Amino acid sequence: MIPYKHEPFTDFSKEENQKALKEGVKLVESYLGQDYPLVIGGERITTEDKIVSVNPANKEEVIGRVSKANQELAEKAMTEAYNTFESWRKVKPETRADILFRASAIVRRRKHEFSAILVKEAGKPWNEADADTAEAIDFMEYYARQMLRIKEGFPVESRPGEYNQFNYIPLGVGVVISPWNFAFAIMAGTAVAAIVSGNTVLLKPASTTPVVAAKFIEVLEEAGLPKGVINYVPGSGAEVGDYLVDHPKTRFISFTGSRDVGVRIYERAAKVNPGQKWLKRVIAEMGGKDTIVVDSEGDLELAAQSIVASAFGFSGQKCSACSRAVIVEDVYDQVLARAVELTKELTVGDTVDGDKFMGPVIDQAAFDKIMSYIEIGQTEGKLMAGGEGDSSKGFFVKPTIFADVDPEARLMKEEIFGPVVAFSKAKDFDHALEIANNTDYGLTGAVITNNRAKIEQAREDFHVGNLYFNRGCTGAIVGYQPFGGFNMSGTDSKAGGPDYLLLHMQAKTTSEML
Ligand code: GLU
Repeated sequence: MIPYKHEPFTDFSKEENQKALKEGVKLVESYLGQDYPLVIGGERITTEDKIVSVNPANKEEVIGRVSKANQELAEKAMTEAYNTFESWRKVKPETRADILFRASAIVRRRKHEFSAILVKEAGKPWNEADADTAEAIDFMEYYARQMLRIKEGFPVESRPGEYNQFNYIPLGVGVVISPWNFAFAIMAGTAVAAIVSGNTVLLKPASTTPVVAAKFIEVLEEAGLPKGVINYVPGSGAEVGDYLVDHPKTRFISFTGSRDVGVRIYERAAKVNPGQKWLKRVIAEMGGKDTIVVDSEGDLELAAQSIVASAFGFSGQKCSACSRAVIVEDVYDQVLARAVELTKELTVGDTVDGDKFMGPVIDQAAFDKIMSYIEIGQTEGKLMAGGEGDSSKGFFVKPTIFADVDPEARLMKEEIFGPVVAFSKAKDFDHALEIANNTDYGLTGAVITNNRAKIEQAREDFHVGNLYFNRGCTGAIVGYQPFGGFNMSGTDSKAGGPDYLLLHMQAKTTSEML
């Protein structure tokens, strides 16, 4: 088998690649506004009640109308998934992996179409959409290979006359609740991790981006995934999400989204409901309040570039986004001035033609929340760039920098999930690390310094799941920088890492006397 290597990013400076993406957009435009049914046990079910997915850059443009599950349909999906588990768990790991390899090949052939869906449905700029699609491919390729390793089991000792084995087996039905910000990559990654490990899945995609998930279900079917292994049940969190989390047949929940929802799921999942025979497992990937620390002995141009790219890529709507720049005082003014200069050059607007750096934020609620933090910022810091928003046609917010923000200010502590970054001054490097660790989160962070001792100090003391040196803090690559955070950022799991599939499995010891 070809060793795993991450999917290369598309170079959009090449005309042929621009053309390919534009063709993808045309194709997607040809099927805008279609209806998408639920998929339960392979059966297409259409409901009256619909989730309407719109383009956040242009509210008038409907991407698709998606049937919405209710509790009755969620129950039906659970029965299908529960029954299908009995056959799927016995399908050879090689076969399960092959389905992923095939699905990945199909997506690769339709790469620009999928990226175009992300441009339209999530408002991603081309490069971000392309990276999202590439990451979805990576998850399939990587997890399929991981499963082939895990199937061998792990060596244990045996005494003479005895044969001991230690193997991982699947858990059961998993409820996968996926986010809109990596509407393809994380949706596909969390779903296929569960599936390739031998579990069956109820997929509840984010209500703002259900169409890309519907398209992915079609890909999995085309790749030969048996009916009932994945069931597509979009719906409201309050009605369908809670119902499935509480369900006694749910064996595990794989959630990516906000801290509030993650904590709620964790609490609810802890309760053993009537008829339930296990303690549910929860894999939760929640928020971040991520810091780039700039040391006086760092490359200051690199620092400014890294802050701007990490803060404003996809409008800051990544849990890995840099929302805090903590800069040692000797170089603070210089880095701030350069970051402001770079930020003022950024373009904002509809990303469909590929000529804008930043698109919209996802919806009205996100827009309102970000604008309210900008209000708060006016009292907590000095507005240096941006600060304006316009939601008349789409949900656009200018990339915004606040300077001289106190380390304890709300802007420095609360997740905004938008294009807003707070700059804070540190007395020295020790102080900078102290500020960096002062939130409830611990997802990503970066340190810009050329001093080896400081790199080692940060490696020990900067408490985040993904720590980067002399680069930005976004853009982890599957299989290269396994991704996931500490503390309130989640359950300490690492998506795209060598131990991720094991979170969806349990170990069984067998001992045979010879
Ligand atoms: N894995 C992404 C990154 O490294 C972030 C994922 C997220 O925002 O949920 O930038």
